[in-house]
Amino acid sequence: MSNSSGSIFSIDSNPTPVTPGERYKLLQNPVFGRVFTDHMATARFTPGRGWHDMRIQARGEFKLDPASLVFHYAQEIFEGMKAYRMPDGSAALFRPDANARRFRSSAVRLAMEPLPEEIFLESVRALVRIDRDWIPSAEGAALYLRPFMIATEVLVGMKPSSDYLYCVVASPVGSYFKGGAPAVTLWVSENFTRAAPGGTGAAKCGGNYAASLAAQAEASREGCDQVVFLDAVERRWVEELGGMNVFFVFDDGSLQTPPLTGTILPGITRDSLIVLARDMGLTVREEPYAIDQWQADAASGRLREAFACGTAAVVTPIGKVKGRRHDLTVGDGGAGPVTMRLKAALLDIQQGRAPDPHGWMDRLS
Ligand SMILES: *Cc1c(COP(=O)(O)O)cnc(C)c1O
Repeated sequence: MSNSSGSIFSIDSNPTPVTPGERYKLLQNPVFGRVFTDHMATARFTPGRGWHDMRIQARGEFKLDPASLVFHYAQEIFEGMKAYRMPDGSAALFRPDANARRFRSSAVRLAMEPLPEEIFLESVRALVRIDRDWIPSAEGAALYLRPFMIATEVLVGMKPSSDYLYCVVASPVGSYFKGGAPAVTLWVSENFTRAAPGGTGAAKCGGNYAASLAAQAEASREGCDQVVFLDAVERRWVEELGGMNVFFVFDDGSLQTPPLTGTILPGITRDSLIVLARDMGLTVREEPYAIDQWQADAASGRLREAFACGTAAVVTPIGKVKGRRHDLTVGDGGAGPVTMRLKAALLDIQQGRAPDPHGWMDRLS
């Protein structure tokens, strides 16, 4: 199924796109995840036809049977990634191959049909190409892409779906935090865990988020910005936030982040920051860190900085941690120098201001 653009996705342009004037207004100050572009990418899988019907089309509603399996047993996975505007006006995606790989492994964990990486890459590239005018150019701004896949077999019976719908929508986002990066306060969840050994913690699935919302609500009631989860077995080891990985910076200049033992989401930002920190000559350990150690190291001053990271907010300093048994301030409670240096190094590559020594940017023609 080819066409003039050479893409495996056929292109049906939106006949009534948002006007340039209206788009300009929408791009001024987009609220995260509320403004969407003119198009979406879709593809379908059935055992008889394999992956087919790959289309770029006007963004619009789906028609789904109420007995579609996703509504009942939650076979759903997703990705989050960004396209940036380069200084020369062109568009580039950040490490889309890594998202394509992770989408495959999430599918395998949820017993869903893995989407071939080439189809994933083509879908995001074709969508960014057609909606390129929606990529904001302000510092820290980007076009956020949300690929996802749902089980569409019509059956209220307990088995992996035979049929799937894959889709990508795009949403322009400003800098997650206006005016730099204020430090956040975390709530240590004692009542809830996010992921258990053998569970779905390493898969990017909606179910993990559904299960984390009550903990996030508890954090908000306690006056905190985000929840930090401990491991489900000993309730001792720091794992991650609801949707961000976590790093610690010590007085000897070294960094530490919890290891990927299957209960933590393998963040692409996490991986990129490990590489960038090592490029800077810093030592990075992937080792468990206990919540009581965090309290002790904050008090002694051994711990200088802590930060969370993920595609949406990039790098977010952690200023304070509160819990039923914990109350600590990291450093002076603000953004630390190593945190800000790493954030700048990553954003400089993503926004094309710095060389790209690791070949992370996928520039679109
Ligand atoms: C997506 C996600 C992250 C961050 O991953 P990135 O690839 O860096 O965006 C971290 N934790 C969870 C639970 C996530 O879903």
